[in-house]
Amino acid sequence: MREFIAGLPKAELHVHHVGSASPQTVARLAARHEGTSPVPADPDKLAEYFSFTDFGHFIQVYLSVVDLIRDAADVRTLTWGVAQDLAAQNVRYAELTVTPWSSVKRGIPAEAFCEAIEDARAAAARDLNLTLNWCFDIPSEAEGMGAGQGTLAIALEQRPDGLISFGLGGPDGPRAPYQRYFDQARAAGLHSNPHAGETTDAQAVWDAVRLLGAERIGHGIRAAQDPALLEHLAEHQIPLEICPTSNVCTRAVASLDEHPLPQIVAAGVPVSINTDDPPMFSTTLGDEYAVAARLLGLDESGVADLARAGVRQSFASDAAKSAILAEIDAYAGGR
Ligand SMILES: [Zn+2]
Repeated sequence: MREFIAGLPKAELHVHHVGSASPQTVARLAARHEGTSPVPADPDKLAEYFSFTDFGHFIQVYLSVVDLIRDAADVRTLTWGVAQDLAAQNVRYAELTVTPWSSVKRGIPAEAFCEAIEDARAAAARDLNLTLNWCFDIPSEAEGMGAGQGTLAIALEQRPDGLISFGLGGPDGPRAPYQRYFDQARAAGLHSNPHAGETTDAQAVWDAVRLLGAERIGHGIRAAQDPALLEHLAEHQIPLEICPTSNVCTRAVASLDEHPLPQIVAAGVPVSINTDDPPMFSTTLGDEYAVAARLLGLDESGVADLARAGVRQSFASDAAKSAILAEIDAYAGGR
């Protein structure tokens, strides 16, 4: 099964730009900025640094890595490293959640930031057979509403080619204050793809759907507490991006065996399997597929269906979807 999953062409729909930096990339960035960051430049010490006590601690460590992204060259290094790691796992298409506001606030001009990610995106398409698209997300941990307005302005003024959706990440808080930014982003043609119901409750998921017009939801696992919500998500085919190991690492779920994925699937809610922040959670997309296969009792053909679901639920072009689906058919059919 592990070998089947490794070779399976896949889509990754919930993975964070900074959170996907491999220890090698983080070590390179930490060495470049040595003496001005708490992040260790030694890859062995990084593993220890990346062990979290709770969601609050995770956010704190995550932000210390964000702080290593200080110029456009750092952004290019980060993005290209992420692209290589995705391609090495036979990921053909990824929607990377990018938080431009965090970098722009630290002094990287929005235009240079967008040029750096687009440069890596073009190289990934050319050299890695990997299509990258961007979800620009509002970091909810940022003070006040400046992050909302700032993220919206970067999205609409720069509008890089790969930008397809608008998100909301960070700690789970009220979703209502962000409605006006989502209204404007959606009016400009971006898909709505917020996080909700990761650590709080089903109400956050309802708010994401009703107030933010969510077409797909990051995590959304707390929906399992509300049968009416599960029914709504199933009826309207609003997919949840499930990241099992992340949920255990941030203590959103007590253990993998208690993960609500089987219940969500049984309710008819569409799901994709994703990593969130793979090196920080010592996981890979292959690991997450293996976890899902175990929790759902899937054989190889069931796992191939999971990969197809990720492609279909993506915001890729129809042509890109068809190409990857054909690749999955050829791979799964040829076994
Ligand atoms: Zn996330």
